[in-house]
Amino acid sequence: MIASQDQERRSQLEQAHALAREAGEFALASGIVRYTEDRQVAHLPVSLLPWLADRFFVKETRELTPLFNTLYHRVAQDQDFLEECLGPAREVDPFLRNLFDSLPAQPRSKPCLYLNRNDCMPHFRDGTYQPKQVEMNLIASALGEASARTNRLHRFLYRDTPLAERIVENSAGEDLTWALAEAHKLICPPDGAILFIVPTGEVNIFDQRALEIRLALEYGVPVERTSLEELGEQGRIKDGTLHLKGRKISIAYFRGGYAPHHYHNVDAWKARRLIEESDCVSVPSVTTQLANTKMVQLFLAQRANLERFVSPGEAERLHRAMVGFAHLDEEIEWRGQRGKARDIAASHPDDWVLKPHREGGGNNFFGQDMVARLQQTHGEQARAFILMEMIEQPVARGVRLVNFEPIECDCVTEMGFFGLCLYKQAEDTEPVFNRGTGYLQRTKDVRNKEGLVLGGFSFIDSSMV
Ligand code: ADP
Ligand code: MG
Repeated sequence: MIASQDQERRSQLEQAHALAREAGEFALASGIVRYTEDRQVAHLPVSLLPWLADRFFVKETRELTPLFNTLYHRVAQDQDFLEECLGPAREVDPFLRNLFDSLPAQPRSKPCLYLNRNDCMPHFRDGTYQPKQVEMNLIASALGEASARTNRLHRFLYRDTPLAERIVENSAGEDLTWALAEAHKLICPPDGAILFIVPTGEVNIFDQRALEIRLALEYGVPVERTSLEELGEQGRIKDGTLHLKGRKISIAYFRGGYAPHHYHNVDAWKARRLIEESDCVSVPSVTTQLANTKMVQLFLAQRANLERFVSPGEAERLHRAMVGFAHLDEEIEWRGQRGKARDIAASHPDDWVLKPHREGGGNNFFGQDMVARLQQTHGEQARAFILMEMIEQPVARGVRLVNFEPIECDCVTEMGFFGLCLYKQAEDTEPVFNRGTGYLQRTKDVRNKEGLVLGGFSFIDSSMV
């Protein structure tokens, strides 16, 4: 950052502290909120000053999103590939096994609807901020509404300053609702409901509620809510159509279901089978969820493997957005060194992260925790983990608001555009729509590697260019 920009940022940071109360009250007034553990309501951690973003990074992250949608759509249709890629992990992981067992013996051809989020970080090298993908989220991509509202918060706080013009617009809440409503119009009977599937005890409920309210009031779409257990117990298929609580269910929109603890009993798994076996469109389908595993991400990080699903030109662009991945016991070549991936990672703990191959947050091992975990993970168990190169970015100062308290910190950021995509039939080559629109930006205190928003170290942000 050049000196004058540096000085400008410094003075913006100082002013941001003074906006704490106004920002906190805006957050409560506009529903940027969560339940606390004792069932009170508190504002979500938000940034008090938009992230100073690189223009190319923002543009490229947005443009990559529909390409990743297409890629993952094609991967999800290739069940033979999924069996081949996930076979070894399936043997040691009951969750994966249950997912595979939820697939119907005779696959049904259905429309494919995606509400994805393509999470990228700005990798700084040779003067360029290249987006590098942390992961694609194909299930329960949350915080769209909360991000769009945080964008409004920033536009409100800075409304009388030149900074307001520089904020990258974000209408993620409206965009996600539009995608669900548009799909409903095109592929569902008017009386077919959209069913929100929500884990019991979820604290991040308000972000979903906002979508549900928009669907009902702005689009007149019938909406229902349930847990997997309730659906498994009470759901019935009549003439191919799923019914629950006296209603036809046309779309099952998952806001949970990605982690084993979301499945409390056999009814929860029965719910997955009911959805797959009926004509209900699952967002995401079981094969899409299988495509969302870290093993598949690892496979797709090889350019030749990408070319199995997309054109060489697209493969090149997607590949530029990926870092290195490795199985623990694989021989790799890394920065001029040759050796077992686990040994290379253990001797460079800041350059690698160890991940189990599933979704959900809080599962990764960084730094010395990674080293310790690698030492304990051998044989069969090693197949359930992957190593990923760390994405490096320069730290920047930011201010977050947690419980009305401004906290200044060194931060890094992660930006994910929502990827909205619909194919009328799984085998269609052209989608009805495929867009990268609206974003979640999470900035986090560098002292915390993982950065879950609900943990308070990571906070919802906007970009300004
Ligand atoms: P989850 O499936 O739990 O969401 P992620 O792969 O998104 O797991 O990792 C969680 C968080 O850890 C990310 O949001 C990011 O902050 C951090 N992280 C993960 N992988 C990397 C990486 N390769 N480089 C830098 N940070 C990472
Ligand atoms: Mg993630």
